Amino acid sequence: MTRTNPKIKAARFSIVTATGLAALKLVAGLHTGSMAVLASAIDSLLDILMSGVNYLAIRQAEQPPDESHPFGHGKFETVATLVQSLFIALSGGWIIFESLRRLLQGSSLVHLEGGITVLALSAAGSWAISRHLRRVARQTDSTALQADALHFSMDVYTNLALLVGLGLISLLKTPWLDPILSLLVAGYILYEALRLVRHGLRDVLDEELPEQIRQEVARLIKEHREHLLDFHNLRTRRAGSQKIMDFHLTVCKHLSVEEAHAISDHLEKRIQEEIRGSDVTIHIEQCVEEKCPGREKCPAEKTRDLHSPRPKEP
Ligand SMILES: [Zn+2]
Ligand SMILES: [Zn+2]
Ligand SMILES: [Zn+2]
Ligand SMILES: [Zn+2]
Repeated sequence: MTRTNPKIKAARFSIVTATGLAALKLVAGLHTGSMAVLASAIDSLLDILMSGVNYLAIRQAEQPPDESHPFGHGKFETVATLVQSLFIALSGGWIIFESLRRLLQGSSLVHLEGGITVLALSAAGSWAISRHLRRVARQTDSTALQADALHFSMDVYTNLALLVGLGLISLLKTPWLDPILSLLVAGYILYEALRLVRHGLRDVLDEELPEQIRQEVARLIKEHREHLLDFHNLRTRRAGSQKIMDFHLTVCKHLSVEEAHAISDHLEKRIQEEIRGSDVTIHIEQCVEEKCPGREKCPAEKTRDLHSPRPKEP
């Protein structure tokens, strides 16, 4: 991966646009005196902070392994995901608090049209950002960007809910509708925060990769059936975008170290080609057949060539 990484570019993009949206809403919030718009502006400011955290975390996660982090820096991204979910939960909690306060005390709103316009603009902007981030997150398999995209799509709902609330309030003169709507949004926000925590904890607790990936690994190993007897002890875990795995590979005991190494190197490369971000280590074991008939006839070594035939030895 290079420095002009799509993940870094996407994180940068989300910081710049979030700043624009926040400034717009802050001005409108102060101008219309609408608490809803002001709250939304504060939420956008939170987005900037989060995008900043993501930007730094992704940049850190993309650093190649070094002496103090020989497995790479994938979990920097995990930490960012967890910190982010904490902030999302806090903002959800704040919205609940503020909604209950307004429900109990009531609130007065003026110049609602300006607020409605800005919320519509902001919803459209957040929708565009989250769509873009989601696409890059899928392409690069980045948990931090996924969290970022989720946050922006959450903002679309928040903005739309507030917009509908403001619209209904100015039409029906029912100010109590606004905090009810924000309570629903807050519930959704807390649910998403919980999902992110579970997502981040997967990495921290070294949960197995999804069955689909494990089956793909098994398929790639079995493609090379003719060079090996079996594989076992497949262990997988995730660190940000990195998928770390190891397994035991049984080969014929008559193979030379060089040949066994060539097989495992080849397999490691194949898996890394097919499964993005994978980091594979193979432990070689010899066949335990008591009466191994010798390399040429061993069931583990029907042919000795790995796809490209090697020149015959003299
Ligand atoms: Zn192969
Ligand atoms: Zn073993
Ligand atoms: Zn053998
Ligand atoms: Zn090697």
